[in-house]
Amino acid sequence: MGLIVQKYGGTSVANPERIKSVARRVAAYRAQGHQVVVVVSAMSGETNRLIALAREIQAHPDPRELDVILSTGEQVTIGLLAMALKEQGVPAISYTGAQVQILTDSAHTKARILSIDEQNIRADLASGHAIVVAGFQGQDEDGNITTLGRGGSDTTAVALAAALRADECQIYTDVDGVYTTDPRMVPEARRLPRITFEEMLEMASLGSKVLQIRSVEFAGKYKVRLRVLSSLLDDPGEGTLITFEEDDNMEQAIISGIAFNRDEAKITVRGVPDKPGIAYQILGPVSEANIDVDMIIQNVGVDGSTDFSFTVHRNEYAKTMDTLKAQQARIGAIDVIGDDRIAKVSVVGVGMRSHVGIASQMFRTLAEEGINIQMISTSEIKISVVIDEKYLELAVRVLHKAFGLDQEAA
Ligand code: ASP
Ligand code: MG
Repeated sequence: MGLIVQKYGGTSVANPERIKSVARRVAAYRAQGHQVVVVVSAMSGETNRLIALAREIQAHPDPRELDVILSTGEQVTIGLLAMALKEQGVPAISYTGAQVQILTDSAHTKARILSIDEQNIRADLASGHAIVVAGFQGQDEDGNITTLGRGGSDTTAVALAAALRADECQIYTDVDGVYTTDPRMVPEARRLPRITFEEMLEMASLGSKVLQIRSVEFAGKYKVRLRVLSSLLDDPGEGTLITFEEDDNMEQAIISGIAFNRDEAKITVRGVPDKPGIAYQILGPVSEANIDVDMIIQNVGVDGSTDFSFTVHRNEYAKTMDTLKAQQARIGAIDVIGDDRIAKVSVVGVGMRSHVGIASQMFRTLAEEGINIQMISTSEIKISVVIDEKYLELAVRVLHKAFGLDQEAA
């Protein structure tokens, strides 16, 4: 018996039938003696619909009013799910984020949770209720409705689990766990029974979109036991448990997954003087334009000049090119060239800390397929390379195989 926070995403509450099926699942958990707090997203497509509606009135919707509109998506599902639970004979009560008192900062459309007043929820749990909370929303200290950014219901669930010291936070979604790579690209991809929190953070930041990255950071900080499960299966099984390395005595695979990301673009500033301050002269204006830079490479100069390359989000490609073209003469560069048809592929695994040779195995595997590596970056548990986008699928498939991810773990 314990206290469980369950989160159901948009596809899991897409229509009345699915909402009834969520209610049955919640009722079944309660029948086992658990206390259950449920966090729900808006019905699938609803948030997009509301954004499009707002844009028909204002091309750049006022952020405060947009949050007023977006928060209604989740407000509908909490009411529907509470009703479905009552139909199952389960006493249930719904709360919007503001009603709970999920206090956030005032950064509309991307607010951060500051604190949660869990007193009312605790009292309702004590009197035998199932609690249904709207994901993705809160209010700031002046009482303005805020939202937490796309995918923010995951973060609501993890934050509530932390505030309530829940035994487990279960994220129900349309996949049955976290995979070694995207199964749509590699059919041999396997569900990972466990993955460490740090690996999950790398996978999420590298484009594996199972969880909102902020929710993973939150879970790490507050040590929330997090599990990803399918809401579409009658028996969701064990899903994937996100563990903490120091508490996990299980023998870990060296590499847990292959992540990839097509959202980047590469910019090269050619023939810049190879002298102190050049990186700052190039990246200073980029950061002033509020553009995030990911990978950076500076070549060693020959006869006093060098090339400097970096990657940015593909959406910021045009803006970055414009910014640097405008600075080209001042920097003293011969040319600014770019490529927005690149992709990033990464191998991720905590085993890299204790095993050598992972990078060379990765590079050999790509070389054998004739795939040229354009950029490389590493962290303690990850090696990423930038390659031509047209080789992405091949790269992911051969790396998945080379690291034995298609084999059942011993
Ligand atoms: N409904 C919001 C979205 O579509 C929040 C969420 O689903 O987590 O992004
Ligand atoms: Mg989601």
